[in-house]
Amino acid sequence: FLTAEIGRQRLEAILTSTPDPVLVTDQNDNLLLTNPAAQQAFGLYDEAITGKHISEVITHEEVLALLRSAENHRQSSELIIDDGKTYMATASTIRVENKRVGRVCVLRDVSSFKQLDALKSEFVSTVSHDLRSPLALVQGYTSMLQMVGELNDQQTSYLKKIIFETEKITHLVTNLLDLGRIEVGVGLQLEKKPVDDVIYRVVAALQMQADQKRVNLHTEISQTNLPYVEADQALLQQALNNLVANAIKYTESGGEVTISLETSDEQVAYNVKDTGIGISPADQQHLFEKFYRVSNKGGPEEEGSGLGLAIVKSIAEKHRGLVHLESQLGVGSTFSLVIPLNQ
Ligand code: ADP
Repeated sequence: FLTAEIGRQRLEAILTSTPDPVLVTDQNDNLLLTNPAAQQAFGLYDEAITGKHISEVITHEEVLALLRSAENHRQSSELIIDDGKTYMATASTIRVENKRVGRVCVLRDVSSFKQLDALKSEFVSTVSHDLRSPLALVQGYTSMLQMVGELNDQQTSYLKKIIFETEKITHLVTNLLDLGRIEVGVGLQLEKKPVDDVIYRVVAALQMQADQKRVNLHTEISQTNLPYVEADQALLQQALNNLVANAIKYTESGGEVTISLETSDEQVAYNVKDTGIGISPADQQHLFEKFYRVSNKGGPEEEGSGLGLAIVKSIAEKHRGLVHLESQLGVGSTFSLVIPLNQ
């Protein structure tokens, strides 16, 4: 008994000094333990909360759902609590000798990341907006230069360079504008189409790019009787397009890019698999952040802005979906875009 008591005291001391809110329940969903951080976050100033049923103590629906869930694997969700902070809540089942004895839920304060993300969004919309008109002007005048008089060979070659580079900037600004628009969430234009429809549109658009690089782009769709997906089809196409374009870009000649489908009653997963350079675990964590690019030390540097995957993530989230990644350096990557069939 004494060792159990010492163990309990030790656990309590650890939890008390943990800055992240922690909630522990028993097998009947009664509160077993809360630390001061949790009491503060949920405004639980009553002394006698231990032992009470969670539904009497916690009013936050999402936290209740996480604590009650019968799932065995870890579950996470992002939530905003009354104290105004954004938390990433992770809950898992506590098992003793393969019996469910309760749940533990830990909340991590991610408010500062959220703020940083909002700042980036603001930056994105300001920059893209202010760049658009001068850029259009530059493009207009460069194309007019050729019309107003004869240019010598050197002038023509300089002009070509200017046009090429301004096109690159235009591409970047378009990406920035898209991202801004998607994030602000100008209404989705929902439309129902067979789930495989978007795949054929993306393949048609990127086949030439793949051929030029001698990357074998193909689809693997064996299922028949495919369901319909309700989505903004243009955005869905853009998301899948970015994934497939990346797969081609980061795969060497002779490699393969395969697009396949997995459907269930509720959702569809578009899998884009490549045999390319792969992504290290450290980079995988940041890949979907705006402007994040992997530096390719020594190897050839690919053109890009680090916005493509941020756009994919934004589009997935607007459809209440997600993007998932599995990758191994030197072996290849599989990106999965998961979208609910109905919005
Ligand atoms: P960009 O390609 O413009 O740099 P993205 O947001 O599309 O921006 O991608 C971010 C980074 O993720 C890229 O710089 C690249 O290093 C890495 N990446 C994306 N897709 C793949 C892939 N299929 N294989 C390997 N690396 C990838």
